[in-house]
Amino acid sequence: MNIGIVGAGIVGLAVARELARTRGVKVTVLDKEDHVGAHQTGHNSGVVHAGIYYQPGSLKAKLCREGVALLRQYCAEHRIPYDEVGKLVVASTAAERPGLRKIAERARENGVPDIAELDALALREVEPHTVGVAAVHSPHTAIADFPAVARRLAVDVEEMGGSVLLSHPVRALRETASGVNVQAGERRLSFDRLIVCAGLGTDTVARMAGAAGDVRIIPFRGEYYALAGTSKDLVRGLIYPVPDPRYPFLGVHLTRRIDGEVLVGPNAVMALALEGYSWGDINLTDLRRILAWGGTRRLAAKHWRTGVREVLGSMSKRSFLTAARRYVPALTGADLVRTTGGVRAQAVARDGSMLDDFAIDVHGRVTLVRNAPSPAATSSLAIARHIVGLASVLTS
Ligand SMILES: Cc1cc2nc3c(=O)[nH]c(=O)nc-3n(C[C@H](O)[C@H](O)[C@H](O)COP(=O)(O)OP(=O)(O)OC[C@H]3O[C@@H](n4cnc5c(N)ncnc54)[C@H](O)[C@@H]3O)c2cc1C
Repeated sequence: MNIGIVGAGIVGLAVARELARTRGVKVTVLDKEDHVGAHQTGHNSGVVHAGIYYQPGSLKAKLCREGVALLRQYCAEHRIPYDEVGKLVVASTAAERPGLRKIAERARENGVPDIAELDALALREVEPHTVGVAAVHSPHTAIADFPAVARRLAVDVEEMGGSVLLSHPVRALRETASGVNVQAGERRLSFDRLIVCAGLGTDTVARMAGAAGDVRIIPFRGEYYALAGTSKDLVRGLIYPVPDPRYPFLGVHLTRRIDGEVLVGPNAVMALALEGYSWGDINLTDLRRILAWGGTRRLAAKHWRTGVREVLGSMSKRSFLTAARRYVPALTGADLVRTTGGVRAQAVARDGSMLDDFAIDVHGRVTLVRNAPSPAATSSLAIARHIVGLASVLTS
């Protein structure tokens, strides 16, 4: 069997490696960019989530826990930086205590090890410069170098006889009785099956496959500031707010990265292009498609207040500083320096709801990963096992 994979992000590469490793099939990964992990995989917080937040029984809950174990082992085998710096979810007011308690219950239900509930004094033993009324501590939440994982997965794929074809944008595809014909860059390729892990490009490739489906990818930019100089020393690990359960995003947090930087962010603003990394990136075709989707309009109608707040916040450093100072009051404006962000591919249904769980859809010989937002980098090796294990992916 000969299988094509669209997307050399961490999910596509993990799927390719799993297919080559466990099924011995010939795999070809196609990506439009000139390096692997060019989009979400290379522009995220770098946190190996422990599985705290996710609805018990969901794919996210299951594959995040499995993914952590697989990723830890993979990083150890390949000497890829991985560090269990630990995470605090901090309630800064008494009103947030019930939300915090739910997080602790959910974490335990999901099998997250060594979860502890801390009071105001105990949380300062973990993060001496952090304030709050209470916190949940997850000591095994880690940070890792996801782009390095993606690069290593690409090497594995090639060592197992597969190919990773960069600068090969998929421009057209046609399903035939015996396979899928793909136009990628200047080449025409034929596969028995195609698996689409195209992140922000999912809808474009889905349309080519005649499988537009019932959800659309809406791009939500996440912007960050980095802490400058010695202010980095105010944060040991990961400091998160109690998330708003109405949204899949976790709220602006402080994140120590594997390269020693400490980030403040990300917020969540709707981008004006699928790959809209800044307000200047506007793509009218993308924008028309995004706005034509009924789900976008319903989402905007429900959440316009939050949307306006996020847009105003995006324009002002002060809003990031306020969010960070809520947990680390010693920070000042001079400590925050703007840095690059990322764009999340978030699937939105026709009714305006944001899909919470990972979503995979098999359409004839084409399998589409429709929704792989955070914690999909953490879960990538487990998502790969899950996809390869779906009977319909290889036999339909
Ligand atoms: C701001 C931010 C913070 C995040 N923080 C975390 C975190 O801390 N922990 C965590 O686990 N997850 C986090 N995530 C989520 C995580 O980054 C993603 O879930 C994960 O990287 C998804 O991987 P992917 O391979 O599906 O997508 P991507 O990495 O986006 O890869 C998709 C690939 O498809 C390619 N492609 C698209 N269209 C085409 C086409 N037509 N032809 C050829 N190639 C194509 C693209 O070039 C791209 O390389 C975060 C995401 C963002 C944006």
